[in-house]
Amino acid sequence: MADFLDTLSDVDLDGESLLPGWTRRHVVAHLAQNALAVGRLVNWAATGVENPMYESREVRDRDIAETALLAPNSLRALFHSEAATLTSAWLALPAASWSAKVRGGQGRVVPASATLWMRTRELWVHGVDLNVGAGFDALPERMLRRTLGDVAGSWPASSIRLVVAAPYATTIGDDDAASVVSGSLADLTGWATGRTTRGISCGESPVPAAPRWL
Ligand code: ZN
Repeated sequence: MADFLDTLSDVDLDGESLLPGWTRRHVVAHLAQNALAVGRLVNWAATGVENPMYESREVRDRDIAETALLAPNSLRALFHSEAATLTSAWLALPAASWSAKVRGGQGRVVPASATLWMRTRELWVHGVDLNVGAGFDALPERMLRRTLGDVAGSWPASSIRLVVAAPYATTIGDDDAASVVSGSLADLTGWATGRTTRGISCGESPVPAAPRWL
């Protein structure tokens, strides 16, 4: 992700991301703010004093919009400095605090150790959103599996069964689910995260969007 960012020219940064209404600047701004937000959870774990990721959805969205207006070099520098600050916070977190409970972005209570995956998933998924030619099929299998499992786990029971095609053939969800959606591991992850319907079949045309995630 950091590598992608440094290959984007100032003009590239103004280009469209894959997220509706967001330029690449918005994606980078969100990732910088996300490092800050995940850092608040690490601080919460370290001190025991509640420190939510964001004050509210409105504040989060406003901060992204404002940060996206920074000059290109300031935006890049902010991304790198917030990422470095987060790494330092993780490195300084005492061993006993990794199991301290914090509240993640979707309101779920998780151990502080979950912040590592939370951040990793953001970087990979939004790396695709940067629209620089690397799709979900460029992501590692483990990353795709875990992300797909996270998203499917957020759906109501028995709503959707996912049938993953070879070479990573598996099924996720109940046998009696109301709908069955199939595709490759990469395409299903793209669909489940609300990014694309490419390569998906579900017996309906056009393919409906997945339930909203995040
Ligand atoms: Zn995000």
